Amino acid sequence: MEIINKRLTLHEFRDYIKGYYFGSLPANKLVIHHTWRPTRESWQGEQTIAGLKNYYEGKGWKVGSHLFIADDGIWLFTPMQKNGIHAGSLNLRSIGIEVVGNYNVEKWSGETKTNALGAIKVLMERLGLTENDLFFHRDVSSKSCPGWAITKEWLFKELTVFRLKPRIPTADSASLEALSAPTPVSPPSDSDEMVFIPVPAWAQEAVDFVVTHRLFKITSSEDIRDAVKFYRFYLLIRQTHG
Ligand SMILES: [Zn+2]
Repeated sequence: MEIINKRLTLHEFRDYIKGYYFGSLPANKLVIHHTWRPTRESWQGEQTIAGLKNYYEGKGWKVGSHLFIADDGIWLFTPMQKNGIHAGSLNLRSIGIEVVGNYNVEKWSGETKTNALGAIKVLMERLGLTENDLFFHRDVSSKSCPGWAITKEWLFKELTVFRLKPRIPTADSASLEALSAPTPVSPPSDSDEMVFIPVPAWAQEAVDFVVTHRLFKITSSEDIRDAVKFYRFYLLIRQTHG
């Protein structure tokens, strides 16, 4: 069994699927599972992934689920352009998402919840899926999977209010060169709430100023550069006029 065996943060996952090739017949549905075992407490990242791979290989499977979502991140397992084995009649053209833990009594919480909702939301957006394309394993099985505590009513409500937190700016983006670099043209996004613009440290003060004074909306790196120009001009004028 070939697995990707890579752990991504939610932001990294979003970037990863942006340019990901989902195959000539991309997945047209998501199937949500819980692992039941391993539990959230017994999850040990790479070690557990290796154990799961062994388990599937023992069944003679060449593929398994596509993603394992835990407190420590989003684990890439079977490549998403391949049909996996995870939900019987729903295996074809679906992405199998395993939320690590047992959710028969408790709902998702903490980082697991953030990672699960975030991954589902960005995948739905990337693949153009609606709530009707979101399945639970128990829709086609007598199991409780993804756990009795998880209902579609709850999940849909959570997805509606979910917002991706802005990415924390990294030190290496703090370069003045970026100020004069050409802005890559990106197509306008159809859902504003999912847009996040990483603000480099050197532009933070200017962006805060523009946002606080509601001068204009920051929706692109072009806006960030405008904010810096505007803020410098403002400081200059303030200086000159004492
Ligand atoms: Zn399942």
